[in-house]
Amino acid sequence: MENRTKKAQFASIVGIVANLILAVVKGIAGVIGNSKALIADAFHSASDVVSSIAVLVGIRAAQKPPDPEHPYGHGKAENIATLIVSILLVVVGVEILLDSISTLFSDEQSETGMIALYAIIFSLIVKEALFQYKKRLGDKINSPAIIADAWHHRSDAISSLIALAGIGAAMIGSHYDLPFYSTLTQ
Ligand SMILES: [Zn+2]
Repeated sequence: MENRTKKAQFASIVGIVANLILAVVKGIAGVIGNSKALIADAFHSASDVVSSIAVLVGIRAAQKPPDPEHPYGHGKAENIATLIVSILLVVVGVEILLDSISTLFSDEQSETGMIALYAIIFSLIVKEALFQYKKRLGDKINSPAIIADAWHHRSDAISSLIALAGIGAAMIGSHYDLPFYSTLTQ
């Protein structure tokens, strides 16, 4: 296997494993910490596993040598993977927009536990690290699929930031019993 494919494949597997871990951590912390925002984010991470698998499949298929049915090789497979990831990225973008609107008018429980806050900070750090790693690798090995996946991690980091703002606001609101938040959260 080509070195480029090996690196791209490793990066995709890192993404799959990270998203699985994030889904479990956020799911558990969301239930214990009583946070709807975090539970929704956990489901998002679970769906992200699919996006990472698409990249892995595309990269693996692209490195197959030409055969009688595909005399020009399988390079297009990576383009298809890039397309899938890009479509999912648009979906994530819309989701972030809707999330920010609903966060503003959220009924996030005011008794949200600190564990929810820690889990979302953990997610934010992991996602930004994944973005940095995959963006650099994608540029280096010239892989549009990896670059698109990198941008997905960055949007997830932004989405975690919005969830963090929502959870933080609910906590501050309940702590100081602000009238503004109690009208929002009731
Ligand atoms: Zn995502």
